[in-house]
Amino acid sequence: MCRTGRRYVVPVSCGGNVLSPVWYISTTAMTNRFHVPAACLLATLLVAPLAAQQAQAPTAPKPSPKETEVWEPEPRVVTPGSTPDAAPADAIVLFGGQNLDEWVNAKGGGPAGWTVADGVFTVNKPVGNIQTKRSFSNYQLHIEWRVPANITGKDQGRGNSGLFLASTGGGDAGYELQILDSYNNRTYANGQAGSIYKQAIPLANAMRKPGEWNVYDVIWTAPVFNADGSVKSSARVTVLHNGVLVQNNYEFKGETVYIGPPTYKAHGATPIKLQAHGDPSEPLSFRNIWLRELK
Ligand code: MG
Repeated sequence: MCRTGRRYVVPVSCGGNVLSPVWYISTTAMTNRFHVPAACLLATLLVAPLAAQQAQAPTAPKPSPKETEVWEPEPRVVTPGSTPDAAPADAIVLFGGQNLDEWVNAKGGGPAGWTVADGVFTVNKPVGNIQTKRSFSNYQLHIEWRVPANITGKDQGRGNSGLFLASTGGGDAGYELQILDSYNNRTYANGQAGSIYKQAIPLANAMRKPGEWNVYDVIWTAPVFNADGSVKSSARVTVLHNGVLVQNNYEFKGETVYIGPPTYKAHGATPIKLQAHGDPSEPLSFRNIWLRELK
């Protein structure tokens, strides 16, 4: 087997363990008195620590999908309405078609005084604004409104009303989501239907034509104030107009005002208010109003 001048490759045995191929040596080297025990020692010095390290390395636990499962708290059951526009089981119905018992006149707190007929109610402009008897903080609101088919006027004088998401005082004090006939009726963009009056232009004009019902679905987050009256967190609102997103978590700069910049003044829970606008155009109607309080 061992013929001088020829190269035979044989595995080198080291303590009974065959070394990896990198430790193969030639018989030529062997005949040249290569010191095999030295190779064994070198192999031991290099390979043994690595093997020991591998043996001692902690084995990582196998990830489980259960590690990212959260079971508590379990969301409570809310039975939805029969259709998306119908009040869910936990909603406060602010107008269900019969009466305005949930509303009062915003000036003086007497009866609302708007006209209820055929399952809807209609603005009575001489009576003025109306507001809810109850006060709210954060909520989800559904409200339907209709500009009459015989509407006249233009600009801000055509089918103007308003949903005050929080009424902070008399008149038009509060945070107004504009209601207006914006079907082929140009006005300033931050004053058309779906706008936060004079603060935020709607993301789209989703207006239905006069005589048809429009829907607002609103998520309102009330502002929070510090003890000194400064703003701790601003009011926010998300609005869908006929299913189209028109305000996306808009952060209010303050209450909406007709003249000048918006400002905040501290308040707690507030009523929701509907506007009887003073323009001479034909009055709007409302129906199917419900609200879910958000804790
Ligand atoms: Mg208005």
